Amino acid sequence: MHYNFTSHCKHNSKLMNSRLILFDIDETMIYSDGVGRRAMEAALNRVFERKIDATGHPMSGKTDPQICHEILLALGYSKEEVDSKLPDAFNIYIELLEAEICKANGFRLHNGVKELLQELSARTDCHLGLLTGNIEKGARLKLTPFELNSYFVFGAFGCDSADRLHLPQFAHRRAEEVFGRKFEKDELVIIGDAVNDILCAQGYGIRCIITATGRTPKETLAELNPDYLFDSLENTGEIIDAIFASRSQEPKIGAKQI
Ligand SMILES: [Mg+2]
Repeated sequence: MHYNFTSHCKHNSKLMNSRLILFDIDETMIYSDGVGRRAMEAALNRVFERKIDATGHPMSGKTDPQICHEILLALGYSKEEVDSKLPDAFNIYIELLEAEICKANGFRLHNGVKELLQELSARTDCHLGLLTGNIEKGARLKLTPFELNSYFVFGAFGCDSADRLHLPQFAHRRAEEVFGRKFEKDELVIIGDAVNDILCAQGYGIRCIITATGRTPKETLAELNPDYLFDSLENTGEIIDAIFASRSQEPKIGAKQI
């Protein structure tokens, strides 16, 4: 189901209390089943001509360039060397990622995601975008099997900045260009699963709704006081209520939902 954003803009450009909802991908919308990790390892192996094992390297909520830099700098490569080889590594990564996605049995959609996207995209007061550490081609590949790309006409990606904390401003600016209207920060909401999703939202002064469907324990997420913390995105009504809760109506951060 594709939402007609163009007509939306014309009719609702002055609508207040609308929402710009920025979705993370891995472990928020999909179980990634390690496809990105395996493809990245194999791509780095090929480009740097050595066995690189990223097992155990924490990747949750990080950008693809950040992950590569962390792994390679720890192995003694210089930043300049990494930067010069990353474009080749990413090209190979994309080829390998497609193959990994095809063969991974556990690569699937989280319950409730499709229903939530359908509900949100049918509303005239919601605009959807991506905010993910994946480079854009990788992000789009991961959404393809579930036909989710049409819900997201724009996004901010790991190829925009290696620092995830910079991504909200990219998403904000890009949304204003794409939809032809201004968005107040109160209208922005990040939906994610990791510590970095929370830090990203808090760093930019916007709200976040966190689903504990990733690798980060719920208790760890709770310690950072996300605005909302759910076990999953399955209860569509509850998630939409959280998306539209105004700041003044909300309980003390995280108090009620955790
Ligand atoms: Mg994630």
